[in-house]
Amino acid sequence: MNLVLLGPPGVGKGTQAGKISQYLNIPHISTGDILREAVKRGTPLGLKARHYMEKGELVPDEIVISIIKERIQENDCQKGFVLDGFPRTVVQAEALEKVLSEFGRAINVALYIEADEEEIIRRLSGRRTCKECGQIYHMIFNLPKDGKRCELCGGELFQREDDKVETVRNRFRVYLEKTLPLVNFYNKKKLLKKIDGARSAEEVFNEIKRVLSQK
Ligand code: AMP
Repeated sequence: MNLVLLGPPGVGKGTQAGKISQYLNIPHISTGDILREAVKRGTPLGLKARHYMEKGELVPDEIVISIIKERIQENDCQKGFVLDGFPRTVVQAEALEKVLSEFGRAINVALYIEADEEEIIRRLSGRRTCKECGQIYHMIFNLPKDGKRCELCGGELFQREDDKVETVRNRFRVYLEKTLPLVNFYNKKKLLKKIDGARSAEEVFNEIKRVLSQK
């Protein structure tokens, strides 16, 4: 199954994509994670992407499209994939459609996880990420067991530059302008399924499983 996750930054797409990936045994592909790794390693891609990311702006379409084109042709994507944070513009969605159709494939469902701006700010400003493995925690909703370090690898937790309040507001504005039109894009194609994101991660995932079982 080829899935797309839509929704504002911080609504829990990464968490849900991880659960879906395990549940369906398909890879979780996050352009945000790929770009952050490139920035961390200082690769040419990272150098190009960095200043857009720090301001909460979108990285140019052609850059992310070429990342995804390559990634979805890898072997582990044969059975499907769950895309998290891509597409984020109509141009990206059209490019995705085109590249999939070249292999006789298509998106099967676009899960749209909804939440309003205040809920997003509350969530993102509490979010902490492991420096080593990227695992996500939350200072209110999902504290690591010892309150400080990553449960998986013992890594130190930090607040992403773009999770700070001013940047979060900008990311939300960019989302409304550039990404929200995709709701209409997938709705017209009868692929859109709305999920209420203002609930616990478990409840959201149960709803997703219900929706997927009807597919
Ligand atoms: P995320 O972790 O998905 O919120 O992504 C973090 C940042 O990476 C975004 O604020 C953008 O700067 C950049 N980014 C990730 N995915 C995309 C995409 N599909 N198109 C453009 N920029 C992206």
